[in-house]
Amino acid sequence: MVDLREPDGTEAVENYVDGAWQTPTGDDEQALSNPATTEPLGSVTFSSESDIDEAVRAGNEAFEEWSQAPVEERIQPLFRLKTLLEEHQDELAELLVQDHGKTLAEARGELRRGIENVEVACGIPSMMQSGSLLNAAPEIDESAVRKPLGVFAAITPFNFPGMIPLWFLPYAVATGNSFILKPSEQNPLVATRLFELIDEAGFPDGVVQLVNGGVDTVNGLIDHEGVEGISFVGSTPVAKLIYERAAANGKRVQAQGGAKNHIIVTETADLEFAAEKTVSSACACAGERCLANDIVLVEDGVYEEFTDLVVEETASQVVGNGLNEETDIGALISEEHEQRVRDYIDTGVEEGATVLLDGRDAEIDGHEDGNFLAPTVFGDVSEEMTISQEEIFGPVLGLASVDSVDDAIERMNRSRFGNAASLFTGSGADARKFRHEGEIGNLGVNVGTSAPMAFFHFGGWKDSFFGDLHAQGEDMIHFYTDKAVYIERWPDA
Ligand code: NAD
Repeated sequence: MVDLREPDGTEAVENYVDGAWQTPTGDDEQALSNPATTEPLGSVTFSSESDIDEAVRAGNEAFEEWSQAPVEERIQPLFRLKTLLEEHQDELAELLVQDHGKTLAEARGELRRGIENVEVACGIPSMMQSGSLLNAAPEIDESAVRKPLGVFAAITPFNFPGMIPLWFLPYAVATGNSFILKPSEQNPLVATRLFELIDEAGFPDGVVQLVNGGVDTVNGLIDHEGVEGISFVGSTPVAKLIYERAAANGKRVQAQGGAKNHIIVTETADLEFAAEKTVSSACACAGERCLANDIVLVEDGVYEEFTDLVVEETASQVVGNGLNEETDIGALISEEHEQRVRDYIDTGVEEGATVLLDGRDAEIDGHEDGNFLAPTVFGDVSEEMTISQEEIFGPVLGLASVDSVDDAIERMNRSRFGNAASLFTGSGADARKFRHEGEIGNLGVNVGTSAPMAFFHFGGWKDSFFGDLHAQGEDMIHFYTDKAVYIERWPDA
């Protein structure tokens, strides 16, 4: 395996199966490149059916002993992994920037949240306990226990390659299951480096495995009878497909999908603060975030003033290579995705939104081939416009004026998505209304991006999520275990 601490463009991504690195044996292959420079990073060969089968078999064999290991023993490799991740955080962040295109600060932030999930899972000895009751009936004591189930797989997207695998992996193994990760084929280098550290942390062979690939690999995992359950994070159409296919196979499934998120700004808000947080919410990670709030509904009386502040703040954003510390907005993942975002901007213009700032002509010195767009701001974005309805996943922000907070909440709730929303206000009554009436999974008040800490669940509503148990925190323990009740009678005589 080539040393990923210094990628030289020839990395051939491997699988990590049964405690060893293996070259995938499928027919398809994807070239990898740095989004900021388009320089080659290497390639990933997709896994074949037999690669998948080997990993699932190794996972089930490992499960026999791992599920019976004392819980204290199960969390020791996680403690070591936490330390290793912290020791290698800067190096991982640099690799993440080259693999994904985001900024160093964003990469460090996502790795920190990933590490926090490892920390939370180290609390499994307390978190996995269930209830018990003496004298539940005459001479009868009753208790409930949680049991691990087998091999679980997670299929993850390109946009948080260092964090999203850790929404699942630590909880799956801490609860006593085996785990297989299938990372995005667009940028699998961070997952590969993560597994080098996992190898060092010393999990028993087969407990944690990495299987690379694309659609066929995902379907192979979902259809394999040796896989108990599937966690998915990605776009809504794929989330729905995964949910249906896994459910049809009788598997546990949680499928987090795409989003279209709103910010509401009231006349009582601190407008400067709200403008700064709005721009960061919509444009950080070049808009490639499921929590990006990119439609901003502003009360009439402050629409003009707030719009001016947003345009000023957006224009000050520095676009460039994420490895430069001064960069605010990095590159988009691929040329194809950049074109997709450009098409949305063109559609916004055609459908009559007012262009307040046009980011289509971004020129980054020395990075002429990179996948860059400067941020675009639209005004007068009406509800029926495509840019108001669909997830753009780029640095594009749309503003609209509304008569009242009630109108804004109603418009927000009519969206088919329900991932996140934020309200900027100085009114407790407005905040309470928003909290009570918002049909959204992650709500923020005077917070630009409502990203839950690792000890809370993470997940949206409506078309942003298919399933019932979300990622992170306690929900993961419910997802990765089943419950059993023991009813005991031991009469005296
Ligand atoms: P994607 O849906 O294209 O891919 C996600 C994963 O699914 C990848 O591993 C890919 O290999 C696999 N995949 C793609 N097409 C498939 C198919 N037809 N059948 C089976 N598997 C398939 O998503 P992406 O472009 O990598 O990520 C961006 C999307 O993820 C956005 O929509 C974003 O909102 C969403 N996302 C959601 C959350 C959340 O918590 N709700 C978090 C992060 C990202």
